[in-house]
Amino acid sequence: MSGNPALDLAGTVATRRDDPVDLLAAPADLERWVAECDGLPDRVTADPAAFASAISLREAVYRLALDRVLGRPFDPGGLDIVNGTAAGPVPTMRLSDAGLQVSGDIRAVLSHLARSAITVLADPHARLKECGRAACTRIYLDRSRGARRTWCGMDECGNRVKAAAYRARRRASATAVGRESGAARDDLPPLSR
Ligand SMILES: [Zn+2]
Repeated sequence: MSGNPALDLAGTVATRRDDPVDLLAAPADLERWVAECDGLPDRVTADPAAFASAISLREAVYRLALDRVLGRPFDPGGLDIVNGTAAGPVPTMRLSDAGLQVSGDIRAVLSHLARSAITVLADPHARLKECGRAACTRIYLDRSRGARRTWCGMDECGNRVKAAAYRARRRASATAVGRESGAARDDLPPLSR
């Protein structure tokens, strides 16, 4: 959805400004998230210490991505966390006819995510944007031609915004038509004079 696994991790807190919803409330949530994420091992176990590291990495990635979106210098504390995590061991990749097989423990996964964050945040051509649905607050990488993408995802946000805009237009045009027909009646020439 975000176009980068580290940004996807940062996106596991939804609606950050208004009413944050944390999708990773416990180590089991993190294990499930890793299993569902493309390019990460299918099965990892997260102890409480690894879970705490994942959450601090996530918040550091979000902070740095927001710094990047807003065009301000990176937060030094965030840089320490991301750079420190990236220095760890990385997952093993293996190619076969079945495709890619990635293996490694949770530490390797976090290191991989930190490296992904560094790669995208260091790229001056990467177009990082915050989702156009104001409440969403997800930061994503826009890879579309001409960088015209406005929302983190059509299903979650684009369609919701479009449906709301459609309803607003219909309300507005219904009001305008009412006003026009009223005006038209007033403008009618007297039938007999
Ligand atoms: Zn969104």
